[in-house]
Amino acid sequence: MARVLFINGGSEGHINPTIGVVQELISRGEEVVYFCIEAFRERIEKTGASVRTFDDQKLIKAFISGGRNYVLERVNGLLLTADIIIPSVLEQIEGEHFDYIIHDSMFGCGHMLAHILKLPAVNSSTSFAQTKDSFHKMLEPLFTEVSPEIAEPIKDKFNSLTAMMKEKYGVEIHSPYEVFCNPAPLTIVYTTREFQPDGEAFDQTYKFVGPSISSGFTQENFGSPAIEEKNLIYISLGTVFNQAIDFYKLCLEAFKNTDHPIVMAIGNKVHISDLGEIPKNFTVKNYVPQTDVLQQAKLFITHGGMNSTHEGLYYGVPLIVIPQSADQPILARQVATIGAGIQLQMQSLTANQLREAADHVLSHSSFKQSVANIRESFQKAGGSHQAVNEIFQFWTLHFESLQRFD
Ligand code: UDP
Repeated sequence: MARVLFINGGSEGHINPTIGVVQELISRGEEVVYFCIEAFRERIEKTGASVRTFDDQKLIKAFISGGRNYVLERVNGLLLTADIIIPSVLEQIEGEHFDYIIHDSMFGCGHMLAHILKLPAVNSSTSFAQTKDSFHKMLEPLFTEVSPEIAEPIKDKFNSLTAMMKEKYGVEIHSPYEVFCNPAPLTIVYTTREFQPDGEAFDQTYKFVGPSISSGFTQENFGSPAIEEKNLIYISLGTVFNQAIDFYKLCLEAFKNTDHPIVMAIGNKVHISDLGEIPKNFTVKNYVPQTDVLQQAKLFITHGGMNSTHEGLYYGVPLIVIPQSADQPILARQVATIGAGIQLQMQSLTANQLREAADHVLSHSSFKQSVANIRESFQKAGGSHQAVNEIFQFWTLHFESLQRFD
């Protein structure tokens, strides 16, 4: 049995795929100590892991204070969170022994913690994986398109934060890539190599295990009669970029006179009462057990978050993707390319267009067929079970190499 230090942040999309992995680790005898924000304590404790938490308000404030307009500002935001997470983790694990660390690919400063603690590290990538090249393309606009008056202070901030990290914690940061992507000797990616853009560019240290999906997070009884019916449409913009009251009203308008039962999750930044009259065929909630709803849905209108996209396809549901931000345009393109759905743009979208698009996807069996193909490849990839096979293989090789030096 090994002791595993799991480091994550505070976002649903980065936590959910790890639930199955932690469950599997524990069922195969590992002991897991999992760091995240308080809001996910219950969900993680159900796996059998021991949960320790960071101060979520401080974390969010630090991340946002880095700035949101350019990727390097987000890198700076992550470095600001490092100055909260690292001392908190070090204090809470003082005197304890761990065999290896598994960390999120973005939140939690895992790359730095692995170096400070000198632990073999596994990167848990809940977004598409990035090569150094693809990441640098994302950074590029700051260097090529932005005036020096804006760009220079952001670069200076990065340099002063990395100097601070070196002085305070003795960690050398060589590039923004290390902060944003947290590279490690083993990276678990929760998609297939075929669905990952430029999948062949990744070496064998990247293991594409397919979606890792757990259901039944909530105790909520979601027994709406509408769910039993045909052609249920599920609408959600995920948990982050979901403050979109006009879009939700547009959905009410688009589907109010149709036969489709609609389940719409609007997130916790919009009040249901602000949407006006809710048509009879709608069930509107702030949050729903998405993986349960998807098992009854015939169409998913989604923002194209990594998890939502994979969950939809995993349960055989064609998608209409309306990307909002982050990596969502890339997911939208991938879905359209494989024929598993279509993409629409939020700007200038009308209720008519949305209804027609929904009718189109529902009435053309080619979408369903393409989804069935990708679904099969997702299910074959092994998910959390395969993730743990890869982690064990990595840890065994590492352990054997340590013994050779004894
Ligand atoms: N989710 C859910 N119920 C909701 C909204 C979201 O269970 O009402 C879950 C969803 O199943 C997914 C995650 O939250 O696992 C959202 O992750 P994703 O990467 O799709 O989007 P993000 O929220 O990070 O933008």
